[in-house]
Amino acid sequence: MTMDGFPAYRGDLRYHCLECKCIYPGNELHYTCPQCRGVFLLQDHNFSELKKTSGAKWRDVFDRRAAGKMTQMRGIFRFYELIAPVVDQEDVVYLGEGNTPVIESSPKLQRLVGRKTAFKNDGQNPSASFKDRGMACAFSYLKQLVKRNNWEQVLTICASTGDTSASAALYAAYVDGPVKSVVLLPQGKVTSQQLSQPLGSGAAVIELPGVFDDCMRVVEYLADNYRVALLNSKNPWRILGQESYAFELAQWSNWDMAGRCVFVPIGNAGNITAVMNGFLKLKKLKIIQDLPRIFGVQSIHADPVYRYYRQAPRQRNYAPVEVSPSVAQAAMIGNPVSFPRVRELAARYQEEQGEDAFNVVHVQEQQIIESMLLANQNGHIACTQGGECLAGLLQAKDQGLVAADEYCILDATAHALKFSGFQEMYFSGSFPPGYEIIPRQEYINQPQSVLSEEDRNRLGREEFTRAAVDEMVRILGLQGN
Ligand SMILES: *Cc1c(COP(=O)(O)O)cnc(C)c1O
Ligand SMILES: [Zn+2]
Repeated sequence: MTMDGFPAYRGDLRYHCLECKCIYPGNELHYTCPQCRGVFLLQDHNFSELKKTSGAKWRDVFDRRAAGKMTQMRGIFRFYELIAPVVDQEDVVYLGEGNTPVIESSPKLQRLVGRKTAFKNDGQNPSASFKDRGMACAFSYLKQLVKRNNWEQVLTICASTGDTSASAALYAAYVDGPVKSVVLLPQGKVTSQQLSQPLGSGAAVIELPGVFDDCMRVVEYLADNYRVALLNSKNPWRILGQESYAFELAQWSNWDMAGRCVFVPIGNAGNITAVMNGFLKLKKLKIIQDLPRIFGVQSIHADPVYRYYRQAPRQRNYAPVEVSPSVAQAAMIGNPVSFPRVRELAARYQEEQGEDAFNVVHVQEQQIIESMLLANQNGHIACTQGGECLAGLLQAKDQGLVAADEYCILDATAHALKFSGFQEMYFSGSFPPGYEIIPRQEYINQPQSVLSEEDRNRLGREEFTRAAVDEMVRILGLQGN
């Protein structure tokens, strides 16, 4: 093992189908299982080699790399051996992803919540969501595949209305060359805000009449019949990259996850899959002794995973749900593609650390938006899904699921700015009824106008300034000195 240079270790990654149990070599481009369409997890068949190094030694290696200066190892590939140890140094794509801070909540917020809390700010990734972790891995792998196979062109494609397309378009624009990016969006179902990121990155943006699911069927057909790389979260290379969230959190916590709970929003369930798989890997290598407890959080408007785990263990029945409008829009999914992965990993997780190591709670829309507002009014930069995590913690606490001394880390999966439209709807009282949100005065914040355009035209500059000062003194109740 190299301590300071680029890692010498190479893994033997293979696609494992979670349905029919088929295995495919990792140097082929697969999206889902060619036999049965099941989802894959990538497994390193050389993993036992990594076990020959002690946990203490691994901790030391990762800590040294954190202080190192090699560009390729500044992001998710600090944990190269655990992520995609097949990628050559020259193919690592790094745009500043990963390494996001864990920000402890202010004393006031912790008092209000009644638990020790912190947010891990994944909105501080380059395209402002955690999706960049997965894209950095998927694009590094793709770059290498193109090189090895001398492909003249490969098209990356995804169906999305939000963060996946923003991230995919950004990384594709940077890698360029034979890699071209296409984003397929449901026509009229995206705001100009959601459109601006892939358009700004220069991706080809195609609109189709219908909804997200119509777009999804088209891109999956393309992936089955043409050489296109699908970047939706069924892509198992994305899952590997997203495991870096768990590795970073463990490192930030000085490799001690005992007494810690991690709250993760569940949409398509790729992220919670990655977080659990990441912690499981760390434990297998004895890098951590204890797994943190995991809490998946869903809105009652999109809660198929919650409904599954609510049932008695031996009688569980999975059924997709019809979604209703949700402010946690990035998680508004009725039939999560990674559900088989969650079932598999939650079982392994509970086997390792006990029944209560994996939980799913669901929360009201009103709780989600107000938790986001509460967090941000106390100095955080949480998106609505981050708010969903805080709402999930309050819910879990009420149900007696979190002990008084447990430390709760909440995943703020995107930057607050991406979802400012929902904040605006709350402040202006303009939520359509489907959201079931009734704004309450204590959370509303609106600009106050002083003076008018007519005052400005009428008064001289000095008088106008004095009049504005008088107004502000009145509003703010200022005392002269
Ligand atoms: C994609 C996304 C989610 C949902 O993650 P899944 O992996 O689909 O469960 C949550 N929050 C944000 C901001 C996202 O972009
Ligand atoms: Zn299969």
